[in-house]
Amino acid sequence: MTPAARHAKLVREIEAHNYRYYVLDDPSVSDETYDGLVRDLRALEEAHPELVTDDSPTRRVGGEARAGAVQVKRAVRMLSLDNAYTADELAEFHRRVVEGLPEGEAPRFCVEPKLDGASVEVVYRGGRLVQATTRGDGETGEDITPNVRTMRSVPLRIEHTGTVTLRGEVVIYRRDLDALNAEREAEGLEPFANPRNAAAGAVRMLDPREVARRPLRAIFYQVVEGARLHQTHHESLEWLATLGLPTHRRHAVVDWEGVEGAISAIDHARAAYPFETDGAVLKVDAYRHQDMLGMTSKFPKWAIAYKFKAEQARTTLREIVVNVGRTGVITPVAVLDPVELAGTTVSRASLHNADMIEQLDVRVGDHVFIQKAGEIIPQVVSVDAAARAGKLAKFRMPAECPSCGTPVVRELRDAEKPELGRESATRCPNRRCPAQVKERVFYFARRFAMDIDHLGTALVEQLVDRGIVGDVADLYSPSLTPERIAELERMGVKSAQNVHASIQRSKARTLDRLLCGLGIPQIGQVAAKQLAEEAGTLEQLLAWTPEETREHVDAIRGFGPKMVEAVVEFLEDDGNKALLRKLVALGVGRPQPRADVAAEGPLKGMAFCVTGVLSKKREDVHADIRAAGGEVHDAVRKTTTHLVAGDKTGKAKLDQAKKYGIRVVSEAELYAMMRGES
Ligand code: AMP
Ligand code: ZN
Repeated sequence: MTPAARHAKLVREIEAHNYRYYVLDDPSVSDETYDGLVRDLRALEEAHPELVTDDSPTRRVGGEARAGAVQVKRAVRMLSLDNAYTADELAEFHRRVVEGLPEGEAPRFCVEPKLDGASVEVVYRGGRLVQATTRGDGETGEDITPNVRTMRSVPLRIEHTGTVTLRGEVVIYRRDLDALNAEREAEGLEPFANPRNAAAGAVRMLDPREVARRPLRAIFYQVVEGARLHQTHHESLEWLATLGLPTHRRHAVVDWEGVEGAISAIDHARAAYPFETDGAVLKVDAYRHQDMLGMTSKFPKWAIAYKFKAEQARTTLREIVVNVGRTGVITPVAVLDPVELAGTTVSRASLHNADMIEQLDVRVGDHVFIQKAGEIIPQVVSVDAAARAGKLAKFRMPAECPSCGTPVVRELRDAEKPELGRESATRCPNRRCPAQVKERVFYFARRFAMDIDHLGTALVEQLVDRGIVGDVADLYSPSLTPERIAELERMGVKSAQNVHASIQRSKARTLDRLLCGLGIPQIGQVAAKQLAEEAGTLEQLLAWTPEETREHVDAIRGFGPKMVEAVVEFLEDDGNKALLRKLVALGVGRPQPRADVAAEGPLKGMAFCVTGVLSKKREDVHADIRAAGGEVHDAVRKTTTHLVAGDKTGKAKLDQAKKYGIRVVSEAELYAMMRGES
């Protein structure tokens, strides 16, 4: 097969898998197989750069952040939808529709889920995705083409060369939100309350690399340009599906008599939909009828959204307690009289922050309404003000941390721009705050991090409160013996031994797990692994100068500027440095094996430091060494076996090599070794 034919085949295969996975929700290959195909395609494109096209699956994520938003004027205005909340309002809509059509023409209706996300318009021209925009003010939207290109549910190429303009919704599946929130939690970021917020925040981001990290999907619900190939709206929807474009695939076409049944069918089924649905949209199905009905300045007259009611419950607020989290953020939580809501008993609800409490004017003793509208944690949405009995005291966030008594702070959003005001979060700034230390220890011990069994709440409380553990490194202190643990309350000799053994075992976790456990802002599990692979060891991370850190981290695939800054800042902090040194001294963490180091190869067991000017880029030489089973060292170390000296290699490097007895080889000799010639 020629490279071009192989390229075309790989592209087709990858896109077909994207379709099965993201559109049909029915993957036919494992993630490993899929990743393997993408890797093969990358390798092929590296060897044959002339084969790379703009719509290659490897080009979904563009390189650079845009400087600012670009406005695009669209041909057909993107309207909003009229709303109905009752059967009467629906009947009124029907009356207007019938009135607007010639006598005796009974319209049929397409009833479909109203997706809860952010609107998007996408244009395909000549079979290629050429533009994507937000709704904006309807007439002009923001160009978000690079962002939509990152969504693998959206094909970059379709088998139809005429211009097609589609409208749809960018959403996040509920199950993807759980994973995204877990990732955010690992990065020390506040979790998203619901998929809509997560999706709406992401579609307009300026850095497509950041967008690519969010599990966004587009789901199309309308054809604008290109619609006239069909007679009806539902035929267009079905046509989109045949082109491999994602649609909600859940519409029903009915007479007026069937509308109510179709709406309630969606209401009953929606809990099982993978996406959030906040209503049903009713559309007059025949385009001929739609044209006769036309539109107002705001809405099409041929469609209406019927909004479902979010389930609410009314209960009494007994108390507002505050929690101090791992990063020091102090969160108020509503303690409620237990009440049934959407099938569960709820006794706690989120109040987010001081601003939220102020806005709702919620006070202890109030009757409150709580709701679960796609949110994972129930929210207090309003106060039954009429039912307020007597004078209730306003809630005040404590001025001091409830755990350590340090005055709390609300930081400026941007130190250079005080006019932007303060963060909504209230924090305890004391790093040694017992509440924070406890949370950090729990976090450190979690399964995805250091995975320390038996480290229960009662034990951690005692360890911290008695001053035995002041940071996560203290867990490994030689003075924390099984005997010492057994002296604590409610600890038997056997369980003390078990905890001690678990802690000791965790010392051998690889660097990525350790980095996860430390909770570096912005750095989740995937990023921690990449960072660990780049550094190899904790010592190396500590050894880098800030410039070196920036250089190394910047080179990691998918790391945006925010992540780079977060890592640099974390490593520059004196407190963090001291903690990392302590961990190194205690022998915690194992060097990170590199996924791209071949298990076998002619360079197996050797470690190379590459220096000087070579004929290839240094990263490429590194990759070649690893592919041949060798290890790469950034600097000459005691365990380095070979110094690869290019042109202009400094004398200092050569002297150092001599001192350690390291073999010095040329680039040509290195490649000869790789071929097994030496
Ligand atoms: P609203 O934002 O309440 O004015 O509702 C109008 C919006 O609903 C549209 O701009 C679309 O983004 C969104 N929407 C969600 N699902 C559908 C659907 N099935 N058909 C039409 N619009 C929809
Ligand atoms: Zn505190």
